[in-house]
Amino acid sequence: MGRWVYMFGEDIGDAPPKQLLGGKGAGLAEMTRLGVPVPPGFTITTEACLAYTDSGGKMPDGLEEEVDEAVRELEERIGRGLGDPKSPLLVSVRSGAAVSMPGMMDTILNLGLNDATVEGLAEESKDRRFAFDAYRRLLDMYGDVVLGVKREHFEEALAQLKRNLGDASMSDQDVPADKLEELVGRYARIIADGAGAPFPDDVRAQLWGAIGAVFQSWDNPRAVRYRKMHDIPHDMGTAVNVQAMVFGNMGDDSGSGVAFTRSPSTGERVLYGEFLANAQGEDVVAGIRTPRPITEAAASPGREAESLERSWPEVFREISDIADKLEKHFREMQDIEFTIEKGRVFILQTRTGKRTAHAAVRIAVEMVNEGLIDRDDALVRVEPESLEQLLHARLPSPDELEARGIRPIASGLPASPGAAMGRIVLDADEAERLAEEGKDVILVRRETSPEDIHGMKAALGIVTATGGMTSHAAVVARGLGKCCVAGCSAMTVDYEASKVSVRLDDGGTVALAPGDVITLDGTHGKIYLGELDVEAAAKVPEFETLMGWADGRRRLGVRANADTPRAARTSRSFGAEGIGLCRTEHMFFAEDRLEAVRCMVLSEGDEERAKWLDRIAPMQREDFVAIFEAMSGLPVTIRLLDWPLHEFLPREENDYGSVARALGVTADVVKKRAQAMHEVNPMLGHRGVRVGLTTPAIYRMQTRAILEAAVDCAARGIPVVPEIMIPVVALSSELAAMRTIVEEVAREVLAEAKAEIAWSYGTMIELPRACLVAGSLAETAEFFSFGTNDLTQTTFGLSRDDAGRFLAKYLDDPRGLLTADPFARLDTTGVGELVRLAAERGRATRADIKLGVCGEHGGDPRSIAFCEAVGLDYVSCSPPRLPIARLAAAQATIRAERGR
Ligand code: PEP
Ligand code: MG
Repeated sequence: MGRWVYMFGEDIGDAPPKQLLGGKGAGLAEMTRLGVPVPPGFTITTEACLAYTDSGGKMPDGLEEEVDEAVRELEERIGRGLGDPKSPLLVSVRSGAAVSMPGMMDTILNLGLNDATVEGLAEESKDRRFAFDAYRRLLDMYGDVVLGVKREHFEEALAQLKRNLGDASMSDQDVPADKLEELVGRYARIIADGAGAPFPDDVRAQLWGAIGAVFQSWDNPRAVRYRKMHDIPHDMGTAVNVQAMVFGNMGDDSGSGVAFTRSPSTGERVLYGEFLANAQGEDVVAGIRTPRPITEAAASPGREAESLERSWPEVFREISDIADKLEKHFREMQDIEFTIEKGRVFILQTRTGKRTAHAAVRIAVEMVNEGLIDRDDALVRVEPESLEQLLHARLPSPDELEARGIRPIASGLPASPGAAMGRIVLDADEAERLAEEGKDVILVRRETSPEDIHGMKAALGIVTATGGMTSHAAVVARGLGKCCVAGCSAMTVDYEASKVSVRLDDGGTVALAPGDVITLDGTHGKIYLGELDVEAAAKVPEFETLMGWADGRRRLGVRANADTPRAARTSRSFGAEGIGLCRTEHMFFAEDRLEAVRCMVLSEGDEERAKWLDRIAPMQREDFVAIFEAMSGLPVTIRLLDWPLHEFLPREENDYGSVARALGVTADVVKKRAQAMHEVNPMLGHRGVRVGLTTPAIYRMQTRAILEAAVDCAARGIPVVPEIMIPVVALSSELAAMRTIVEEVAREVLAEAKAEIAWSYGTMIELPRACLVAGSLAETAEFFSFGTNDLTQTTFGLSRDDAGRFLAKYLDDPRGLLTADPFARLDTTGVGELVRLAAERGRATRADIKLGVCGEHGGDPRSIAFCEAVGLDYVSCSPPRLPIARLAAAQATIRAERGR
């Protein structure tokens, strides 16, 4: 059996330090070894915690003896005794798991005080006020953390005391000593009432109570949920750190503070932080007093003298030297907590510092240039998702806003990132009209349809009451690079009454109307009332350097989902290596085409349909020409039409009229034809290749347009790599029959032009059946592109447009029904297994078959790691997510090589 307890800095053998001692314990141990001034203490290992939880709450054998021994050693080093009424040893007790789990458990300070030792402390420090202040802090923290007495009770007692003293806004520091003594008595009664047992006078009982509470915190529901959400294993346990107290509140030659070795907001290489004189660490964080800056440079003009650098130069120098030493040792930006006790500097904690995306990129690149880390280290240190902060206008995070008292009125899905502010408009035409007048508008709809595209283009942001991450609104908004919050289920949009109402969490409602101003946070899926400051996208020169390193390192290719020449050009500027999905139906949405498309759909007989197709063909060809030009030399996967039919059928009476006029029939006839085409479940209906085979003229027209465009470009010296892709295939017979048609058209076009164009033929894999028969599909297909949006929908049997109605409840459910939205993060155990199987079967038939993903998951870092593991060739995602995908792909390669 191993040991349960290690003094800071003691040899732990071969065990990985963080795993055994937790992050905090490992940091304290390492600093002690480096000779950094750390108050002495010991760590109870994570293994002891696991033994405790595994046995249902029994302290493991031998732990008691080891803790006793460690306390004795600590007493000897400090020359004080735990519970000694003359010279009491006080300790802090803190949890610390291998991975940081913020908010899992609070800290207990000043443990070791009771009615007798507090007198000793008062006597020794010659400061009665200080001693009783320490005691009341212990009662407060112990009552809350160990005994489960709500903190508000203590806060209220303190507030009451201040009111009795006639100054409700008095600072804690000004409460006189005798009143603090009274407060201690009051706190003790609050504990006895709230916990049903008194605060333990026995200091050893205090210590074991605290150790048990830390152990138990590992399995509290909040911690379990946090681990599930962040994929942290449950079998790691938390360590417990017991450390001698040092006091920053022992007078004006004492203080506490935090320092970052580089700026956490810009990444600049300067010491950055704050401190408070005569204060304990928690006072700095609590924000009751305004801390002073560490460096002169960070002080506001005229207040430089308040900085630690100017007011306390020796201490400043010592902290700077330690910060330097720690950063060099850990080769990472450190966040350091320090305390100055009567002029002596102590470091209480060092850990990797949290930072903005901007700082992360700059620090990673600069540390490589300084020779501190290598490029692979730099690449894995930047969180891919965080790059979104650099690329889009954004709002402060919901937490930052909450801290300022600003709460969202509604939440939905973060369908398209960025931030936008404007007046509500419920109608696409109105959005366009107001935007032309120079107004900033937000288009709010129940859902969007092709008829809304012009309004979506004109608006700065889009909100829908229904729909999921792959709904029309979400897909189009991402394509347009507009911020979008979709599926706000608490929102009701009443077009007739021109009203929007939002149900609030507290049961109330907010009534909104066109013209009211709202601000959207598409990155977090939040809607705020009124105007908030939107921050512009940051410009970080190191970004391009990091992206270049990522490109040099990744194995997976990265392509874009782009349907327009503009999106194609944007995608190239974001580093796309081709188009992985050009959705041709989006080309049909354009206003000048929608009517022709509707007439084509609703015309009767091949002859009439051909007339409308002839009208659409040149527009399709032009689009393809412009896209090929933009992507010159890079592959462009063009998916033949896959419409959800209902999105194209006219819905309003006057739309029937205009289609009827164009077709030369009555509105009633058009209405009847549209009704005849009505499907109960269009997502599982007559779409994709099913339309291609039953009305072959449409796919024939598209194939012709693609190849004519290719011929046109090639003739002008623009290299083209067209890939024709068939959607919603379930049967190998469908794919083979379609290939015959496509080849026939291709032969015609190329013979007419007397040209040779290399093109390839492949299929989307969007249905479970397609995965199962992938071996036979690969006889016809030269490539597979996994349409994981539909594959998720069909594997789960869950409509992607309706999932939003209950998915949030599943995600919030404490039973852990779902830990991630499967439409945003690939469900690797279910849908992913189908992908793996299809890839294997496809390769077994055709060894060099090209495999990619073009569902939304192609831009999600964890899903990308899965694509790497399965050995796909590329991922394809919307243009704004390209940098995220490039970095995530590089990380996947590096991690695979490092064997994680
Ligand atoms: C898919 O189903 O994953 C896909 C990319 O196609 P769409 O989203 O257009 O259905
Ligand atoms: Mg699909």
